[in-house]
Amino acid sequence: SPADGYRGRFAPSPTGPLHAGSLLAALGSWLDARKNGGQWLLRIEDLDTPRCIPGADQQIQAQLRACGLAWDEELTYQSERQGLYQEALERLNELKLLFPCTCSRQTIASTLANLGIETPRHQEMVYPGTCRPDQLQTNSPELLKTSKVAWRLALPEKCHIEFEDVALGHQSQDLNTEVGDFVLRRSDGLFTYQLAVVVDDTQQGITHIVRGEDLLSNTARQIHLQKILGYETPQYLHLPLVLDEHGEKLSKQTLATQINTEDAKSALAELRKAAHHLGLRNLPDGESITIAEWLLAATHAWR
Ligand code: GLU
Ligand code: ZN
Repeated sequence: SPADGYRGRFAPSPTGPLHAGSLLAALGSWLDARKNGGQWLLRIEDLDTPRCIPGADQQIQAQLRACGLAWDEELTYQSERQGLYQEALERLNELKLLFPCTCSRQTIASTLANLGIETPRHQEMVYPGTCRPDQLQTNSPELLKTSKVAWRLALPEKCHIEFEDVALGHQSQDLNTEVGDFVLRRSDGLFTYQLAVVVDDTQQGITHIVRGEDLLSNTARQIHLQKILGYETPQYLHLPLVLDEHGEKLSKQTLATQINTEDAKSALAELRKAAHHLGLRNLPDGESITIAEWLLAATHAWR
């Protein structure tokens, strides 16, 4: 049964200390793993070096420890696993699924404008296929390693991805019309989140992915990559953000609020807030309870 081999993870980007939103993802994924008698791994997603803050990984670990969210096995850093991403990229190249792209955001924006395609604010631009060759081919491996261009994944003509989210139910996305051929390695040489997360989740044997609803729009891309690389697709649970007391979704601002884990009392207060936002009710609210006791009660209450 899947419970036997449950392996979950928390995969923060070290762009700063944990905030209210990332604590939600940490707590939700930890509770789901513990409830299922599974393992919970910590992976630092530090590939986007311009956005990483030195020391944030240490802060995150300290905050997790203060909250009693212990992880299993040794934590991993994506920056130390680049060989794996390069290998996957080379496999996709052999499958004739990659092409180099020299478009800037500007070029893409004006191409879309010329085509009369509007991108709603806060939405990614759909790549219009500008650099995609008529005939896809295997590029020289040397070029793949060294060139200062972006490498995009060529989507098949029909690429409609469907999946069942444990919390949100049936999901579907047409990658051609909603995303387009997407980037796996950027022109600055950095591997993208989409490629790295898929390689790592498989390589680390992750069976259950529990993460924030803000990442939902990435999942179809990741499932498509899993399919073409011959990987199994894990189960996905995107944590729905419950409504606040005014009946509104928690704002990005609220989610970005700093958390205080300096002492046990503050850490427990943050955990209680996070649990409330996850929809957990009737947890012990006394002052004298320890974090370990409270986490045990929360694990029992987790659906
Ligand atoms: N590193 C990503 C983030 O912090 C999360 C990756 C994931 O959970 O798939 O937004
Ligand atoms: Zn291009």
